[in-house]
Amino acid sequence: MSQCYRGRFAPSPTGPLHFGSLLCAVASYLDARQRNGTWLIRMEDVDGVRCKPEYAEQILATLNSYQLISDEPVRFQLPHADIYEYYLDQLKQHNHVFPCNCTRQSLVEHQGRHPDICQSTTNKPHSWRLKTQNDVYRCHDAIQGTLLFEQDLTGNHPILKRKDGYFSYQLAVVIDDHKQGITHLVRGADLIDTTAQQLYLFDLFGWPPPKLCHIPLIVNEQREKISKQNHAKAVPNGDLATLKRVMYYLGIQTDHTTNIQETLIQAIPQWSPNTFTKQRVMTLQASDTHF
Ligand code: GLU
Repeated sequence: MSQCYRGRFAPSPTGPLHFGSLLCAVASYLDARQRNGTWLIRMEDVDGVRCKPEYAEQILATLNSYQLISDEPVRFQLPHADIYEYYLDQLKQHNHVFPCNCTRQSLVEHQGRHPDICQSTTNKPHSWRLKTQNDVYRCHDAIQGTLLFEQDLTGNHPILKRKDGYFSYQLAVVIDDHKQGITHLVRGADLIDTTAQQLYLFDLFGWPPPKLCHIPLIVNEQREKISKQNHAKAVPNGDLATLKRVMYYLGIQTDHTTNIQETLIQAIPQWSPNTFTKQRVMTLQASDTHF
């Protein structure tokens, strides 16, 4: 079975790679290598407004400097709008989506959620939203144990294609994970919140979902996510000390390694999802606040 393992790291190039995303990249890489699997990088640049080619380039250079190299050509999402359109059409044909021209302002009272199927006219610029019901999902996560999604699909109809013509992350990620034959997702626990929507889309298309492993999210002492939104700093390229701090948070001992390659090789057999016990977050140590 291990021959069939296909994993991926799928950053959105909305900023440079920060410590939290390097940690997820390393974890997914180690998981794939430990199982003799294939590891891919996918640039999730589907949001043509927030994503920038220069960030994609910068992220790839940083990954490269840590010897995290995709086994197959890096897939970009932006050139594949026709594929996403094709699958959106399938959903339209089966009445699983509806057009919507609600404004952000009109949804303020629902905290940005879109609870009802609206009566929008299709001759105005509009988005396409997914018709969700009250489906409940239960699945196993290698770190989080049983994930039970009871209310996640209730009272919200997420956007699959925006008014400005760009497709959403939710639609693109499911299509690409399927098209690339991804069997295992190792990614940050912040993405648990939207996992039910992805499981629902996998179901609608009749595709088996990948196995899940959500790594605890690195937070600062104020319990804020270290993210691009918080202006997290770019990690330095090819810095052994940074990689060793990543390994530390992954529960991996690399005290005596002297270069990046040796560090990765030593880490592969040590990686284990069992290091974390259903943790959703881990706090950055005071000595690491420069990240
Ligand atoms: N592109 C997403 C992000 O950078 C991650 C997608 C995923 O791993 O499913 O947050």
